[in-house]
Amino acid sequence: MRWSGSLIPTLREDPADAEAVSHKLMVRGGLVRQLAAGIYVYLPLGQRVMDRINAIVREEMNRIGGQEVTLPVLHPAEIWQQSGRWQVIGEEMFRLKDRNARDMCLGMTHEEVIAWIASKELRSYRDLPQIWYQIQTKERDEARPRSGVLRTREFLMKDSYTLDLDEAGLAKAYDAHKDAYCRIFDRCGLRYYVVESDPGMMGGSGSHEFMAPSAAGEDEVAICEQCGYAANVELAQGIPLQPKFPAWKLEEVPTPNARTINEVATLLGVEPTLTIKSLVYVTKTGPLLALVRGDQTLHEKKLARAVGDVRPAHPDEVKAALGAPVGSVGPVGCRLPIVADESLREGVYVVGANKEGFHLKGARPGQDFSPRFADVHTVQPGEGCGRCRAPLKVERVIEVGNIFKLGTKYSVPLGAVVLDESGQERPIVMGSYGIGPARIAAAAVEQRHDADGIVWPWSIAPLHVHLLAVNAKDLEQAGAAEELYGKLQAAGFEVLFDDRDERPGVKFKDADLIGLPIRVTVGTALIKGGLVEVRARKDRSDRRVARGEIVSAVKDLAQELSRA
Ligand code: ATP
Ligand code: MG
Repeated sequence: MRWSGSLIPTLREDPADAEAVSHKLMVRGGLVRQLAAGIYVYLPLGQRVMDRINAIVREEMNRIGGQEVTLPVLHPAEIWQQSGRWQVIGEEMFRLKDRNARDMCLGMTHEEVIAWIASKELRSYRDLPQIWYQIQTKERDEARPRSGVLRTREFLMKDSYTLDLDEAGLAKAYDAHKDAYCRIFDRCGLRYYVVESDPGMMGGSGSHEFMAPSAAGEDEVAICEQCGYAANVELAQGIPLQPKFPAWKLEEVPTPNARTINEVATLLGVEPTLTIKSLVYVTKTGPLLALVRGDQTLHEKKLARAVGDVRPAHPDEVKAALGAPVGSVGPVGCRLPIVADESLREGVYVVGANKEGFHLKGARPGQDFSPRFADVHTVQPGEGCGRCRAPLKVERVIEVGNIFKLGTKYSVPLGAVVLDESGQERPIVMGSYGIGPARIAAAAVEQRHDADGIVWPWSIAPLHVHLLAVNAKDLEQAGAAEELYGKLQAAGFEVLFDDRDERPGVKFKDADLIGLPIRVTVGTALIKGGLVEVRARKDRSDRRVARGEIVSAVKDLAQELSRA
């Protein structure tokens, strides 16, 4: 590929709206451009990265017996109405009507279509198991498209679906996917964790996420380095260290103008760990009081798992329910149902008195009020691991893949059944598995870059060799570079030949920015000595190689880099 005549619009400046490193570098490197919020164009270099990732994904899906299909992006509403998700999913789904005013939607995932095909085409247990996959565009009207290609409204997904006769079959298919995913992420050069996750709107009985550590991530995981426990903080269980409890007796104390936990704790001269934060939430059946320790935060998804869908109450709803403003509510004498975090089973605390300007000191859960206990606090670093008690680490991560045991959630409503050996009808047991190639690309950039640009891992680099002549006007240099371009290509390398008539500084900067693994530089001094410089982008180590040995030197370096 010659630079001249190619579309590689590199930029010196970061895009104004970009925060994530991958967003900045993928735009500056000329890989992508944003058409509208969360809608991206992949330019030639970006497309090449995606092609490489998709090729790895295909190989690994084929290896476990996956059969590639292409499912439509445009769906009739009926199948989504049958599964119930037409009603459950809100604004994230793009909906439209066709010319006959029929309801349609754009596919945000394809469980319904798969269950529909299965209902039409599979008859007998002999037709199972099956693994079907596609690499297809998904459309989701994300609330906050951000961070470049990490969260877009239109994106590519490899989604696969397994169909089995029973749970044992599903378990096997699920494990095969887990292994395939590990191979995919390993081959793409990512660092990642496999963590337990919340199945959410997919439903089903179990799921794991594949999480690449990065500051640009929107998720957090809790990791135990001792026993290997790893879970999304949406469900991670940690055991907070207990404070030393004083011998308080229940008494009302004035706390004028103190509204936040910190203000109350400071005023009373107690640690926030000896206070309880009381929060009012509204469920389908009315308001409830949720309690976490003063230094903790409540995780709404955990609370929702314990009590069903919730939303924070408005201040006037709080006042109406408890007769006190937000900063003064508490569990003692409270008539709402109370859910308290597990860590509050023991101890003695300062709580709101349900009376403006007052708190109660010395309240004992189980004695002065009777909550239901559930794990509703967000794990913090240093808490004890729920399994082995060693301190947990909390890390920010990018979700690059997600696998779900669906069970029969879609096959039952869509009538995807087969006859078993005894002639009995049985709903097919399904699994669903997703990977975002764009997130893999962006996560790789997040994990592998330096101040000057991207440092692509060999496996997903857009091309492998960046060839340039320092002075393209110098006929000898240009000729030598031209000759090398041919030789390197003949040796099987994908070469980007920067043949532009640009200043050397510009070319070097661009080479660092787009980050191909090997740079080959032809320059005057080197020409005179019959030498060419071969450099690894990764550590910028240079080797000077005689012109005749350049191809074998590139081969050696390629071997070294492709192993790393
Ligand atoms: P998130 O929680 O980050 O929204 P999700 O749980 O909705 O992700 P899935 O429905 O499981 O994601 O999709 C499978 C994979 O598709 C994800 O692991 C991710 O790699 C990718 N993906 C999901 N949403 C997006 C998006 N908006 N932009 C780019 N890739 C995405
Ligand atoms: Mg999502």
